[in-house]
Amino acid sequence: MLSPYVVEVLIEVARVGICGSDVNWGYRPDKVISAPMVLGHETSGIVKRLGKKVTSVSVGDRVAIEPGLPCRRCRICLKGRYNLCQKIRFCATPPVNGTLCRYFIWDEDFCHKLPDDMSLDEGALLEPLSVAIHACRRGNVAIGSKVLVLGAGPIGLLCMMTAKSMGATDVVITDIDESRLSMAKGFGASCAINVLRNAEEVPQLIRNSFHGEGPDVTIECSGAQQSVLLGIEVG
Ligand SMILES: [Zn+2]
Ligand SMILES: [Zn+2]
Repeated sequence: MLSPYVVEVLIEVARVGICGSDVNWGYRPDKVISAPMVLGHETSGIVKRLGKKVTSVSVGDRVAIEPGLPCRRCRICLKGRYNLCQKIRFCATPPVNGTLCRYFIWDEDFCHKLPDDMSLDEGALLEPLSVAIHACRRGNVAIGSKVLVLGAGPIGLLCMMTAKSMGATDVVITDIDESRLSMAKGFGASCAINVLRNAEEVPQLIRNSFHGEGPDVTIECSGAQQSVLLGIEVG
């Protein structure tokens, strides 16, 4: 079995989410992969072995991994904004392999112990949840906010639910897929709008669903150019 280095942990991988970015590697012409690479970065697992100086987790702990290891030394790391580190080693970003494998070695302080009442499935969702929390914080979502979420994929749904839990009163979500929209309604969206079916009247539909005004905050989660333009138009 693989041996973790001094401050590393060997994890038996349990769950890995498939992110849009994983799927994109196969389709985007601007992302050229020159060598075989393991995908996956939304991950939970069970600690199997510890490096000599590991203290924060124990063998048998269930953990979620934080998939980007920053350099910890540059100015931006020392400012605490380590997600922006230029030397970050991010799972499933060449040349760093991802977590869709049986065993994975990662630094102990980027392995977060799961509470007893959290499942491994939920653990694998913590990384996308952190994206949603970061987005809502950047947008200053607060009590009474009116929030427009463009795109009802996993990130859009998590942004919608996070905005609600931060106190947003109206959270309107858009997508082109009815099943995603009905899921969004089920998870508490105030209004779910199909931007394909109502393409012409979408901007007005959005304003109507915010009682005639634009949203306070717009979070773009689709990656589609038209969606970005729509966000600017109604924002
Ligand atoms: Zn992801
Ligand atoms: Zn750094």
